[in-house]
Amino acid sequence: MQIITPHYILMNDKVSTNLSIAFDKQIEEIAPFEELLEKFPHAKVTTLKEHSLVMPGLINAHVHLEFSANKTQLSYGDFMKWLYSVIENRESLIGECNEACMAKAVESMLANGITTFGAISSYGMDLSACENAKQNVIYFNELIGSQAVMADTLYSDFLSRLDASKSIKREGFHAGVAIHSPYSVHPVLVKKALQLVKNENLPLTAHFMESEAEREWLDSSEGAFKEFFVDLLKQKTAVSDAKEFLNYFNEKQTLFTHVVNANEDELDTIAQYKHTIIHCPISNRLLGNKTLNIKALNEKNINWIVATDGLSSNYKLDLFEEMKISLFMHSDTPLLEFARMLLKGVTIHAAKALGLNTGEIVKGKNADMLVIDLENEPNEELAIHLILHKYNISKVYINGKLEKED
Ligand SMILES: [Zn+2]
Repeated sequence: MQIITPHYILMNDKVSTNLSIAFDKQIEEIAPFEELLEKFPHAKVTTLKEHSLVMPGLINAHVHLEFSANKTQLSYGDFMKWLYSVIENRESLIGECNEACMAKAVESMLANGITTFGAISSYGMDLSACENAKQNVIYFNELIGSQAVMADTLYSDFLSRLDASKSIKREGFHAGVAIHSPYSVHPVLVKKALQLVKNENLPLTAHFMESEAEREWLDSSEGAFKEFFVDLLKQKTAVSDAKEFLNYFNEKQTLFTHVVNANEDELDTIAQYKHTIIHCPISNRLLGNKTLNIKALNEKNINWIVATDGLSSNYKLDLFEEMKISLFMHSDTPLLEFARMLLKGVTIHAAKALGLNTGEIVKGKNADMLVIDLENEPNEELAIHLILHKYNISKVYINGKLEKED
């Protein structure tokens, strides 16, 4: 058992003062220090600095580690231009990102207070980086392939990657499934994978309605994607429309990433089946995509969370940066209220969407905690200050273990 003595604890929107935390792998009790010491006289006590705040570790539900080598190779500003640049540079980007490159990306997330991440794995090359990560990991094996003739080969490759990830038994590591997108995965494959997801109760995610090109292609088999599909895959029409695709997910709560081009009807379906939307503001801006309509999501009571996406469409893997960008991007929202929502979107709401027992400083939750060195006593507007100032993170605990310290 351990006890830490923060001056403040962030519990949802409230700040508690003068309470200490006793924990093992999970948070055992939150009470005044003397009480905890009496109850756990042999606990290891860590006395924290003045104005230290304990808050939940951050959860980054969507990152592509295999593309971490990108800094300047990919083209930004237009989704299709970016996509062509990914295809053109894929071999070199993947080749350049060895184990050390991915480990560096994982390490940078830890330094930025990310204690859980969802890795979207296209090729399975990031498996050992994720196995060796200190964080909790949902390892989303991605399924892609729009051509029926390739379906069997692609599915068996997907299955073998999934099996490899399921064989990893370390604490905090979970295998999951990612369906790439409605335009890139044949319905036969989607249905097969979703049956497996349901049977094995695996976490599930998919990209959905990221670009205008995707909207047009799914609606009418026209637009900027047409040339792409005809030239590269000899495919003249979309494999499914958006509504049909969404309906495959009715029986399994899913995390849909981007969703910036969804229409009213699609948002209603997402609300009805209690899916979650992953907001990646920096990625959307850099790839020339729209801004997520968060107002509509709030009106429809849709759970939304915040993630970084990969370094193929971001310059760092830092949820504080991501929240700050989002705070400025959604300039028509009430500042304090929105800052609080953003914080929930990287903690409690993200944990809920991923089905993990974390994201809150509450008795019984996993002890995934950050110690933040505030500079003075927090006031009402702490959520804004946390996002704007990115205070020093002096300790990071994951499942009760001190994994980073300055
Ligand atoms: Zn993505």
